[in-house]
This record gives sequence, C-alpha cells and structure tokens, in this order.
Amino acid sequence: MPLESGVKGYVKGTATVTVNFPIDNKGKEYVRCVHCPYLSANKKVCRLNSEIVAFPDQFVGDKCPLVIEEPKHIPEGMSAFGED
Ligand code: SF4
Repeated sequence: MPLESGVKGYVKGTATVTVNFPIDNKGKEYVRCVHCPYLSANKKVCRLNSEIVAFPDQFVGDKCPLVIEEPKHIPEGMSAFGED
C-alpha cells in the first residue's frame, strides 16, 4: 500500500525460528525439508526464503536459512518426550 507522503525510513522487525528435526531410535538424523514446518504445502518451496527446494525428502534446500546445530543426545531409556 503506497504512502501518501512517501517513505522516509523503515522500522525493522526480526524473528528467530527453531525447527526440531527428528532423530530415530537408531540415531539417524533426518535433517530434511520434509520434516520442517516451513516447507510449503506443495512441498516445493521454502516459506522462509521463497526458494525452490529440489529434493525435500532427502535434503534441506541449497539456501536453507537455518543454522544446523549438533544434536542433543538423549540418555538411554529416555525418548524425546520423556521416559520410554
Ligand atoms: S530450506 Fe530449510 S527452512 Fe526452508 S523448508 Fe527446507 S529445512 Fe525448512
């Protein structure tokens, strides 16, 4: 929507997002777009950067904006949701 008197400047708004990619019970990590809530409904576009993702079932997009961290280890006998 254009402003009647023009634009003198901007006020920035920023956000930080967190995505929890799953690790199965064998320790295999699934860092893939298909497990990310920011993948579009048609599974073709990242909704954070509007880039097309080529193989969402296998990888994250080439320009994925997430910083992937080392996984947190869950002690034996525990699951991600508490005790087994
Ligand atoms: S590129 Fe990164 S942020 Fe975008 S949908 Fe894939 S995993 Fe999620």
